[in-house]
Amino acid sequence: MKKLYLTAAALLVAATSFAQNEIFYTVSFPNAVHHEAEISMRIPEVPAGTLRVRMSRSSPGRYATHEFGKNIYNIKAYGEQNQPLTLKQVEGDVYEIAQHGNTVIINYTLFGNWMDGTYVGIDASTAHLNMPAAFMWAYGMDKRPARFKFNDLNKYGWQVVTQLKPDATGTYYAPNLQYMMDSPTSLAPVKTYSWTIKNPDGKVQDLHLTTHSNDDQTVVDNFGKMVQRITQEAQAVFGELPKYDYGNYTFIHDVYSTNAGDGMEHRNSTSIVQTTPQIAGNETRLLGTFSHEYFHSWNVERIRPKSLEPFNFEHANMSSELWLAEGFTQYYGELLIVRAGLRQSADYLRTAAGLVNTVLNTPAAARYSPAQMSRYAVFADAGVAVDQTNMANIFTSYYTYGGATALALDLRLRNEFNLTLDDFMRALWLAHGKPEKPYTIPDLQNVLASVTKNPKFAADFFSKYIYGFEKNDYTALLDKAGLILRRAQAGKAWAGQLRLSPSNEGLQITGSTIIGTPVYTAGLDAGDILLTVDGKEVKDQQAYMSVIAGKNIGDKITYTYKNRTGNHEAVVTLTENPAYEIVTYESVSKQLSPAQEAFRTKWLSTKVK
Ligand SMILES: [Zn+2]
Repeated sequence: MKKLYLTAAALLVAATSFAQNEIFYTVSFPNAVHHEAEISMRIPEVPAGTLRVRMSRSSPGRYATHEFGKNIYNIKAYGEQNQPLTLKQVEGDVYEIAQHGNTVIINYTLFGNWMDGTYVGIDASTAHLNMPAAFMWAYGMDKRPARFKFNDLNKYGWQVVTQLKPDATGTYYAPNLQYMMDSPTSLAPVKTYSWTIKNPDGKVQDLHLTTHSNDDQTVVDNFGKMVQRITQEAQAVFGELPKYDYGNYTFIHDVYSTNAGDGMEHRNSTSIVQTTPQIAGNETRLLGTFSHEYFHSWNVERIRPKSLEPFNFEHANMSSELWLAEGFTQYYGELLIVRAGLRQSADYLRTAAGLVNTVLNTPAAARYSPAQMSRYAVFADAGVAVDQTNMANIFTSYYTYGGATALALDLRLRNEFNLTLDDFMRALWLAHGKPEKPYTIPDLQNVLASVTKNPKFAADFFSKYIYGFEKNDYTALLDKAGLILRRAQAGKAWAGQLRLSPSNEGLQITGSTIIGTPVYTAGLDAGDILLTVDGKEVKDQQAYMSVIAGKNIGDKITYTYKNRTGNHEAVVTLTENPAYEIVTYESVSKQLSPAQEAFRTKWLSTKVK
């Protein structure tokens, strides 16, 4: 976004005088109780010829397609004197106006009843707007500024929370389409906690937590202080905060039990929608999303893969780099909470074990690379499928797969080079983030080569663990920190995961069985109706589990089941559950060496000076 933001800086000076070709959106809420907004889009200086406008099919921070066009209706076009213009729907979400004058006004109704960072949620308490889900845009006008006027604020007691630039007249400004679409806007009665962070160059930036929740100001202040600690740990990783446009970064936060919920990163803000009844009492579990999304303000918003730049709003944006953009962010999101002293390291060991299980125990990680798993995001990231997919066998999350890769690289840099992953992230920031020079995977390899001064190590790491699917030696790496990787269910018999639910026919296997597990090997699969296991009728999941629980590794158990090819019998040979856990030397009464203790402390302790 580098070029576009230079334009933003230049226009900032003139932000209060409206640009000639600015697109002006007026947003009103006469029917918020039924989740509707009325939107009017005024386009001046429309060039001669057919004007094409549309709704988006993708959204920054999302990698799959979303049909946002389904939620707009009553679409009408007018000229400057309110004379109706002929508007033709040429695709589900694309409209054309062939005959028009200098100005075109398009009005439509927007429906939104899904409170998260991807869609739109409107009721009398709030309007939470993800811009691509809410606003039409015109072809060929990407570089034009946009301005927003939000009506009915007093009627509902709403404040405007957004990274759009406010001006004295009560409107909100975006320098161009990319910035506008990246600027989620929440209209709500909010409570705010603000703090400042000083960069090494002496410049101070303002950060804000604005929360719409059932909490009092004291709770918001206390929670804000926790978030503040995390932002300081994030600064310590990179050495400085990014220079936020207009000097502010805002956590746009909405908490309510019926929310859909998610976190979405943006350049100068994040939309975090959470599903607990309130913040109070849930602080620790809410922090993870804050830590993750804030880390994104460097990693993906500015250290940005070329594949996502500029963002295309008409189709999914495929990227081979999500193992870094999401995976490394996932790793740091959890780590920074521990470094900030807001989570016990024992909890962190469970998180780390989750990462290791992804890389060592999923069928997809055994056959596909982190780069390839990143590309599958166009189907996996909130992508909706009506039919069954084989995702359980062919996909493993680039969040945890990438997180496990980050864990291995961090431990290897510490062990082999007396460096840390922080050094790598800081080098990436200086080479690609700060100058806003989008990267490719070879660029990342070059930065690793230069940080380690060892191009052979970098080439080897990328070829084996990024383009390939070889595995790092996690047992040896964790041992450096006095941690033991071991089977979590050692000695317990296991048949493999089988998800069962009652159907008219009987107890049905509902999800794919997993490659390599005993039930898969024996031929059981989704849709099969389980009749008996080891001679006993099983009525539910619990009954099934208790049959297995009484068995030993190596036991052969007969399953009878039916499907459209008839009745069958399969013999399942039980194995040991392969799931890993990570425990400390201390917990098994093993002596921790001073070197191990120092290694662990250096890794997990605060970096804030
Ligand atoms: Zn993320």
